[in-house]
Amino acid sequence: MKVNIVGAGFAGLAAAEALSSVGIAVEVFEARSRIGGRVWSQSLPTGVVIERGAEFILDDYDTTRELARRLGTPLAPTGMAYGDREPRGGPAVERAELLKVSDLVTELAHAHAADPGMALGDLLDATPMSPGARAALEARLSISAAHEAVELAGHLAAHTSSTFSESQSARIGGGNSRLAEALAQRLPSPVRTRHSVGRVEWAGRSATVKGQGFEAPADATIISVPATVLEDIVFEPALPPSKLLANRSVDYGHAAKLSVPLEREAEPSAVMSVPDRFWCWTARGEGGAVQPVVSSFAGSATALQALGVRDGTGSWLGRLAELRPDLALSSEEAVGTLWDNDPWSRAAYPASSWRVTRATTSGW
Ligand SMILES: Cc1cc2nc3c(=O)[nH]c(=O)nc-3n(C[C@H](O)[C@H](O)[C@H](O)COP(=O)(O)OP(=O)(O)OC[C@H]3O[C@@H](n4cnc5c(N)ncnc54)[C@H](O)[C@@H]3O)c2cc1C
Repeated sequence: MKVNIVGAGFAGLAAAEALSSVGIAVEVFEARSRIGGRVWSQSLPTGVVIERGAEFILDDYDTTRELARRLGTPLAPTGMAYGDREPRGGPAVERAELLKVSDLVTELAHAHAADPGMALGDLLDATPMSPGARAALEARLSISAAHEAVELAGHLAAHTSSTFSESQSARIGGGNSRLAEALAQRLPSPVRTRHSVGRVEWAGRSATVKGQGFEAPADATIISVPATVLEDIVFEPALPPSKLLANRSVDYGHAAKLSVPLEREAEPSAVMSVPDRFWCWTARGEGGAVQPVVSSFAGSATALQALGVRDGTGSWLGRLAELRPDLALSSEEAVGTLWDNDPWSRAAYPASSWRVTRATTSGW
């Protein structure tokens, strides 16, 4: 038996490794010149490793943690907590209130977990809190969902307990891409990078993938590309309407990252701009030393527009400098990554699992 796998992100590589470990032949096709997909570590000229895509491994990431242990790619503690960001720039709020209100909102979210029609905005309105706490919570959830949080379902808050955790976050030492490389090394043959699949011909017990200058028959094909680009692939026969509908109902959030080397070292930190919907952090790397770089993540289409990310990093750099006057930014060496511009994902990650589903009488 042979299985083709389209996409060498973590999903495709994990599938390939699992199949290969039970003796099934696999061939992995990847459009980019590198593996890892939305996990993309890059070494700066200074040797500092930045993450241009996925960065944090949280406490409840059991699968990733177990995989890292099994493949011998140890986690490096960051010395900061993804879930504990100091809010700045909004109405004043005490940390104690923020923590208390976060607990209240999480409790309410659990109580309404079965009500997909309850919007997070309604839930926040139903929780007594100061304007500062409200602004900080809304910014916090919008950034992480990469979507305006008030429009999402209330249960988003229940699924983000790590969002308000003080627990120290981790990354793979030396870069998260090491995990992708370790998975790929366990495959019997190299991933076929620069192989963009344009067509899948499937019938009965066969599924052949085709692209420019290549064709690979197999007994089955696993497609692990983001929902945003699935329909760039021609399926023959066409995918059933139910699958197309399911794919089209996946709504993606929008996010960008900015890494700026530092002239002087800094302590681990996590600070959020409430009005500008981005946060930034300094963190320990492999070996425990704080890396001389500040990384930043902006989430939601509104935030990206306000920061002018389509026109370059200038405006965001200015806001970052205002937010963190304590850091000595080497702005000319900044590295920006706008995932909307990435041809193989065209967005960040799905926000649709948090969509509000309201029943209507018209049937629409
Ligand atoms: C900015 C950002 C920050 C994030 N932060 C975190 C985080 O801190 N923690 C966390 O756990 N997750 C985070 N995520 C989410 C995480 O990156 C994704 O959930 C995960 O990487 C998705 O893996 P995947 O294999 O499903 O998809 P992808 O990584 O997108 O892999 C799909 C692969 O398919 C390839 N492909 C597409 N079309 C074709 C084609 N036609 N032919 C061949 N190959 C094709 C693509 O090039 C890609 O390599 C973040 C994501 C982003 C964008």
